[in-house]
Amino acid sequence: MKKMLLLPVWIVVLVLLIGCSSESKNPVHITQMSNIELALDDTVLVEIYRITIITENGDTTTYFEKKAEGNIKLSVPCDYSTSVNVDIYNMNKKTSAGFIQLPQGASGIFNLSVIPISENTEQSKIPNGLYASSISTTSIKISFNAVELAQNYRLYVSNDDVTFTLLAEITTLSYTHNGLESGITFYYKVSSVVDDKESEKSVSVSATTQVSKTIYVIDPSKCRGCGVCRSSCKYDAISKSGSVYVIDPSRCTGCGECVKNCPQSAISIQ
Ligand code: SF4
Ligand code: SF4
Repeated sequence: MKKMLLLPVWIVVLVLLIGCSSESKNPVHITQMSNIELALDDTVLVEIYRITIITENGDTTTYFEKKAEGNIKLSVPCDYSTSVNVDIYNMNKKTSAGFIQLPQGASGIFNLSVIPISENTEQSKIPNGLYASSISTTSIKISFNAVELAQNYRLYVSNDDVTFTLLAEITTLSYTHNGLESGITFYYKVSSVVDDKESEKSVSVSATTQVSKTIYVIDPSKCRGCGVCRSSCKYDAISKSGSVYVIDPSRCTGCGECVKNCPQSAISIQ
């Protein structure tokens, strides 16, 4: 009888363990934590750490911790990819900083490479911890860490990670880039303005807008086989089938270009 009562408890424990170690890309709606260790080079002098954890969905946690023996131990949500910034303080001064991007479901030991910071160098004025994540089919949220005495920040965007143009000049530490196309990758950099002088730009990060769940279909009774839809589809989602054209739903991002271009109004939402 006692064994029968314990069975449901074991089922719950097993489900939790499987959920935390899964590498599935399917969204998981219950947040569970993975244990992570960050290994530092022995030569880095540490008195105290400031750890900032930013999850893919924009949740941010910051806390200070005194140096202990061995690696830096922390927990991160295992159902999101996560970025971790570690600021290292010695004699009450920030002396170096490290950044690592952890994949969804990460666990175990990772090496953290840190870059020394001198308060007087231009390097310290470049915002660190830049992070971009898609929050919808048309929006990407970008966030980064503050720079001491910054008057404002300049956010740059690119489609190819080569040519960047000014996207916004802001005083906040996050920005939502709206009005984007679904399924497209954007690259971002940020700089700070201190004493009216702009710093160099940060290294770039990227995010891809979510893919729409809208499914388009071609009505074969209206399609005249002109192929205009196929040439207007950037995602190679339309192909010929006999004398008409069909849409592959696994490739269609729902951008709607084919709908706009079809002269027969043969394409509609399923
Ligand atoms: S553009 Fe319209 S009519 Fe032409 S092939 Fe595509 S669905 Fe058919
Ligand atoms: S909506 Fe049309 S053009 Fe856009 S991805 Fe789907 S099939 Fe291609």
